[in-house]
Amino acid sequence: MVTINTNYEKLKGNYLFSEIAGRVAAYAKEHPDQKIIRLGIGDVTQPLVPAVVQALKKAAQEMGTPEGFRGYGPEQGYAFLRETIAKQDYENRGCDIDADEIFISDGAKGDVGNIQEIFGQDNLVAVCDPVYPVYVDTNVMAGRTGDFNLRTGGYDRVLYMPCTRENGFIPQLPDRTPDLIYLCFPNNPTGAAISKEALQQWVDYANQNGSVILYDAAYEAYITQEGICHSIYECSGAKTCAIEMRSFSKNAGFTGLRLGFTVVPKELVRQGVSLRKLWGRRHGTKYNGAPYIVQRAGEAVYSKEGKAQLKAQIAVYQENARIIREGLTQAGYTVYGGVNAPYLWMETPRGVTSWQFFDQLLKQVQVVGTPGEGFGAHGEGYFRLTAFGTLENTKEALERIRRM
Ligand code: PLP
Repeated sequence: MVTINTNYEKLKGNYLFSEIAGRVAAYAKEHPDQKIIRLGIGDVTQPLVPAVVQALKKAAQEMGTPEGFRGYGPEQGYAFLRETIAKQDYENRGCDIDADEIFISDGAKGDVGNIQEIFGQDNLVAVCDPVYPVYVDTNVMAGRTGDFNLRTGGYDRVLYMPCTRENGFIPQLPDRTPDLIYLCFPNNPTGAAISKEALQQWVDYANQNGSVILYDAAYEAYITQEGICHSIYECSGAKTCAIEMRSFSKNAGFTGLRLGFTVVPKELVRQGVSLRKLWGRRHGTKYNGAPYIVQRAGEAVYSKEGKAQLKAQIAVYQENARIIREGLTQAGYTVYGGVNAPYLWMETPRGVTSWQFFDQLLKQVQVVGTPGEGFGAHGEGYFRLTAFGTLENTKEALERIRRM
């Protein structure tokens, strides 16, 4: 008889965004004439920049010629892209990362979800609370989390690190030592960024305790302030304790094109085994490489024209973030984030839960955001808005919220 992976039955309720989509669809069906503005899901709205489109076209044409056609590419990614990343994202920031330590993929979500496969079943996993749900759910699926506990609003065997207004949404070093530590900065959902000093403390802690930090830097392009690391490898000693994940989704609008990468340094060894070799084995067994044309498009992101065009594109989202932050503050709300991140984390009005606030915004002014509770127990009392809308919609949404 076929049995199923019963760990899936432990997943908490509906995936957050399906629940939101369901509520929005039901409302839209009843009110077909109303314009709903979505500042909930973190998808981008601006088109690909010309440098990327040109690279895609050129690569597609190459593939249509006998000389330029390429079949399966290297599983780890083409050297032209890995070398460009090593130089521009790392060497130029003073980090010593070799092209051999970079694994190209079709995006960060797959990588942050799959990375747990190279670790043993009994590792203690630490996550921030609130958290990007993928870190927890993929460990639930793998049977590493214990049961969901209705009383605590979390899984019994996961170490939740509260991120609150009191600690500036930066987790404190835990009393109990975790094995795997998921960190994401600039953070989704709180929009908080971590200073170099604070990140260095985590690196030192991980090295002292033999933990591994899984560092998700999907939003590094949104950092505007000095003293904040774009990569964890800017901290000394990070190569012996950290794996870093990056995405082209939010810095170059590749959410539909799909491209990302993971860095596993050669120095990262546990139980005498190289984690780079383990990840290489996993990647090569289950993944056949990102498309050639998309990797060429990724290379164009680092070209002179690409960089200039993307700087302008990100500036539009940063301006949206400023509009939301200032508008909500003027309207009397307390708002965090939005300075080094495309996410705004606002406090819900006193006595209003995050799902109640979601329903109020949807029904009264037809604006969709994301209830903080969906990201973890410590997200209750908060609401996430994203800066990825169009300028026009962002302004209109703000006007409507202020009227409310
Ligand atoms: N990591 C974080 C923290 C995210 O918020 C997201 C997307 O929303 C991802 C990873 C996924 O990135 P990608 O589109 O590259 O899969």
